[in-house]
Amino acid sequence: MTATALPTHPGAEGAATSAHREYGSDALIVCDNLVRIYQVEQIEVQALQGLDLLVHPGEMVAIVGASGSGKSTLLNILSGLDVPTAGRARVAGWDLLRMTTADRLAYRREVVGFVWQQTARNLLPYLTALENVVLPMAFAGMRARTRRRRAAELLDMLGMGPKAHRRPAELSGGEQQRVAVAVALANRPQVLFADEPTGELDSATGDEVFAALRAANTQLGATVVVVTHDEGVHTQVQRTVAIRDGRTSSEVVRRTEIDEFGASSVVAEEYAVLDRAGRLQLPKDYRAALGLRDRVRLELEPDHVGVWPDGAPRGGRPGRRHDERSER
Ligand code: ADP
Ligand code: MG
Repeated sequence: MTATALPTHPGAEGAATSAHREYGSDALIVCDNLVRIYQVEQIEVQALQGLDLLVHPGEMVAIVGASGSGKSTLLNILSGLDVPTAGRARVAGWDLLRMTTADRLAYRREVVGFVWQQTARNLLPYLTALENVVLPMAFAGMRARTRRRRAAELLDMLGMGPKAHRRPAELSGGEQQRVAVAVALANRPQVLFADEPTGELDSATGDEVFAALRAANTQLGATVVVVTHDEGVHTQVQRTVAIRDGRTSSEVVRRTEIDEFGASSVVAEEYAVLDRAGRLQLPKDYRAALGLRDRVRLELEPDHVGVWPDGAPRGGRPGRRHDERSER
């Protein structure tokens, strides 16, 4: 997807107007120093404390983090339910800090879809699965015949065709969530957000829901951002972003490598997020392994930066550079 896919919308930022490349100009989702402060009586809660995140078109990204780290706050903002206190948030060209009420409605109806953890929040109990999927298309003004056909196609794709005429109470939790994915996809959103959609399910059922999200990504081309606690689930995506204390702290990127014998294996590489002030967070197990705390020693090498515990011998690893230096 290129800049031509951006809506010509008053809130949309002209990607090409600034002479220098803007942070995340080629991304579908941009969070730049995003802050959300909740005021509860006299107490301020900083749910997001300068979060940076880029998601590119067609990606499927998992977001992980301890309870209270700000994951739901982030998804509420990105889905247009909540407004950030400061920073920049842009999704598919829509500036989430400058939307009018009408913009917000259009955005939520046509640009994004969402699946919540609570199965009851996703579906209307008195409508069948098919009617639930038809509903958002009816709101968007789609023709009756077209919307029934599309609803049936979506339910088929997610393996729910045979149960299209059941009401939510007649479906299992996992089946309800698969219908919820179909509802979220009804108006062909560019982005699908899911906040712990498998949180109330056992792992086998959770896998089916996750497969539905993957189908949305691979078969319909939707960009998917899914918050999950489930270890097994987030190893199935190419990129996992960890949030800690309202900031993105690290990323794990997985790719498949084929060795000289043709055998493929999945390689996971860990990345830290480097913000524009140069801050990065070292993973806890790295810090523990080397006793890194309070202050670390840095060294600039031709192709990397070395980080040593304070007080470690200079040069870190025995190398020629070190020997040459000490000879002088
Ligand atoms: P997560 O989804 O990662 O568990 P949340 O985004 O729900 O985290 O919450 C992040 C922080 O913001 C928590 O400290 C939480 O108590 C606080 N918080 C979330 N929503 C509200 C709210 N509506 N009012 C006040 N505090 C909130
Ligand atoms: Mg949450």
